[in-house]
Amino acid sequence: MKTNARVVVVGGGMMGASLLYHLALEGCADTVLIEKGELTSGSTWHAAGQCPSITGSYNLAKIHAYSNALYPKLEALTGQYVSWHPCGGLRLANNKDELAWLKFVHGFSRSIGFRMDIVGLDEIKRLNPFLTTDKVIAAAWTRDDGHGDPSGLCNALAKAARDLGATVVRRNRVLDIRPRAGGEWEVFTEQGSILAEMVVNAAGCYARQVAAMVGADAPITNMQHHYVVTHPIPAFMERSVEIPVMRDSYTSGYFRQEQKSGLMGVYESTGLHEAWAPRGFPDWESANELFADDLDRIAPWLERAIERMPIFGEVGIRRVINGAIPHTPDGAPLLGPAAGLKNFWMCCGTSFGIAQGGGCGKYLAQWMLHGDAEINMTEFDPRRFGGFADAGYVRDKVFLDYRLTFTTRKPGEEEMDGRPGKTSPLHQRLRAQGCVHTETFGWERPKWFSLDGRVEAYGYGRNNVFEVVAGEVAAVHERVGVLDLTGFAKYDISGTGAEGFLNRVCANRVPRQTGGIALVHLLSAGGRIQGEMTVTRMADDRFYALSAAAAELRDQDLLTQSLFPGEPVHIANVTEERGVLVVSGPRSRELLQQLTDADLGNPSFPWLRGREIAVAGQPVRALRVSYVGELGWELHPPIESLPALYDAVWDCGRKLGIANYGLYAVNSLRMEKAYKAWSSELTNELNMLEADMERFIRFDKPDFTGKAATLGAAPRPYKIVYAEVAATDTDARGGEPVLVADRCIGVVTSGAYGHRVRKSLAFACVDPQFAAAGSRFELLIQGERRGATVLGAAAFDPDNARMRV
Ligand SMILES: Cc1cc2nc3c(=O)[nH]c(=O)nc-3n(C[C@H](O)[C@H](O)[C@H](O)COP(=O)(O)OP(=O)(O)OC[C@H]3O[C@@H](n4cnc5c(N)ncnc54)[C@H](O)[C@@H]3O)c2cc1C
Repeated sequence: MKTNARVVVVGGGMMGASLLYHLALEGCADTVLIEKGELTSGSTWHAAGQCPSITGSYNLAKIHAYSNALYPKLEALTGQYVSWHPCGGLRLANNKDELAWLKFVHGFSRSIGFRMDIVGLDEIKRLNPFLTTDKVIAAAWTRDDGHGDPSGLCNALAKAARDLGATVVRRNRVLDIRPRAGGEWEVFTEQGSILAEMVVNAAGCYARQVAAMVGADAPITNMQHHYVVTHPIPAFMERSVEIPVMRDSYTSGYFRQEQKSGLMGVYESTGLHEAWAPRGFPDWESANELFADDLDRIAPWLERAIERMPIFGEVGIRRVINGAIPHTPDGAPLLGPAAGLKNFWMCCGTSFGIAQGGGCGKYLAQWMLHGDAEINMTEFDPRRFGGFADAGYVRDKVFLDYRLTFTTRKPGEEEMDGRPGKTSPLHQRLRAQGCVHTETFGWERPKWFSLDGRVEAYGYGRNNVFEVVAGEVAAVHERVGVLDLTGFAKYDISGTGAEGFLNRVCANRVPRQTGGIALVHLLSAGGRIQGEMTVTRMADDRFYALSAAAAELRDQDLLTQSLFPGEPVHIANVTEERGVLVVSGPRSRELLQQLTDADLGNPSFPWLRGREIAVAGQPVRALRVSYVGELGWELHPPIESLPALYDAVWDCGRKLGIANYGLYAVNSLRMEKAYKAWSSELTNELNMLEADMERFIRFDKPDFTGKAATLGAAPRPYKIVYAEVAATDTDARGGEPVLVADRCIGVVTSGAYGHRVRKSLAFACVDPQFAAAGSRFELLIQGERRGATVLGAAAFDPDNARMRV
């Protein structure tokens, strides 16, 4: 066995094999894949092999689309039989909410380029004449879907990798993985050890055990999942055309033709405590194992599948498969670096590993070898989970994810399973005032306030919360609003080298004067956007940096892994030590001035300055910044002081008309100010010029990470633009295609209604030829074309007059 390799991949299922192939394709064949049994002997061999195009995530849909384009070619490429059946797929809509979801996904198909049509009952019947269409109102017909033999697909990928020079070692378990002083990893296996620059955890249901070898965690629960195969069905014998793979919320599952038999798989929603695999499974000896059947548990859903396909009920069941699937709390794979570790990567946690394997391998290989993938990887980054994702949290969320597999979720809809995780000390106070929370990185954060007990009627259109948000916006715009944003990631960066360090890792220059505040961006060596932080200079050698709650572990890695050995810089993550209370609005000064001796007047405390002051007797870091475009301060007290501070602000604010506001209102307010958001506009897909963020780069600095790449970047057809949309009752959210006639020239990255300016607004990434102010195009929102016009400046207060007063 080789004793050195650039990359060692642990696990020879669909994910590991695909990664190995794509590493080779992207130029690295100095790789070894180590599999403890035979290839596919984990979850892959027993999968049903279906590869749908449809998923509710735009970026995941890109992963699926790539797999579906690759698999039909694999047999010709490798000579390995993969049994690809290009039968297409039909996803049924049983009500108007499901149809709305299909229309939303249909938008992705235009932006991404897979074939999808929304079809009516006649076409559904033509494609599957055996289906009972009770309750069905429409379906998505996705012609690029298919199903293949999972073992064949996995072996073909491994062969393709070997053909390009990669090495596969079977029947060899990885026993341990340890860091070496030089930064490499030593991988101990039954057949000896290998030194590697990078190690990848592609161990499927064992990913948690393999992560534990390096002191990391893979937040995964393994679920048992059944499908059954019937005896041959006479009606199928007579047909040469295969029916599409059917997917349906009523049956909570899928059903299709398997040769001349029927196949039904269901995601049951009861008895899940019997349906997970915690008790020592899988142990290391397990290979090609199945669980005992539990047909009683899944019978109600099988009966529904037979209601849909009565011909399946005319013959008996020939085979039952009950195997293990790894699931993550949010149902998305873990693709990217493990938190706190350099060159240890995750390629696991997929519950649709056949459908996703191809794309996961491709985009992770790009990230590992080139520093960035061509698609937005934020939602797959394993560092979206932290210590809050303990075993109980993971199990509760995974049960939820499993039972909702075929349920369409509406925008804003969230369940309480596994929550609350991290709460601010204001949690109960805000709940008592009607706060509806949303969850970000385990934190409960205010979304909106239900002052009259109303419950949100979720949907794609403007709903019964629209006017509530308008009220919160009005409070911030006309009087004063207060918002608990304690979840912000916070770092104290100190030491004699702190300024030089920050100027090296950020594209902008950090403030030269104590009290200065700057918005800065962390770039990859290739110039793509990795992170965004607000940095305040607290003293000569002390900076306070803030970033998105969801970026806490990512940004910590970006900072700490950029330090030179011995550099005199100390980075402390103080996220849980400080609370954040945002006080915004034209009367915010009047309010806060009553609570502090510090002079809050413009001359002594101007916009974009930060100082340590006392407010209501509490020591706070007060930052005069605003993401909502009004006069205001962010107050960062020690976290235990937050309740006293909030109570004082609220008491004083009463006579000024104070109101709580939440993140729905923030989204509306920031869209009006044309403030881009990390993870939607500011992503690893784009450089600062493409993101229209040039004003935050200081090219006159001697150097910073990503400078050369930004300067030398070849023109690409991407530019972020800001547009006013002629929407009537449904605003763009992200993922909608941007059309000029029938040509798709881009995609919406985010959008919202701006209540101050009474306009629907969106950011989109488009062909630069349509980026000039005044350019016109259309957005496809819920199947309707809506005109949009590029704006040259923020829709609200483009000169920032209201923040400077
Ligand atoms: C009944 C059923 C039906 C399914 N149907 C579908 C479907 O239709 N479509 C779909 O997309 N998905 C389907 N899935 C899910 C799919 O099977 C999984 O998502 C996928 O196989 C996961 O692939 P993987 O490579 O991550 O894991 P695995 O296939 O489990 O591969 C991980 C490998 O790592 C090896 N390994 C672990 N630890 C070590 C170690 N220490 N040293 C060396 N090797 C190690 C294991 O032996 C294993 O081979 C289904 C699952 C089930 C149970």
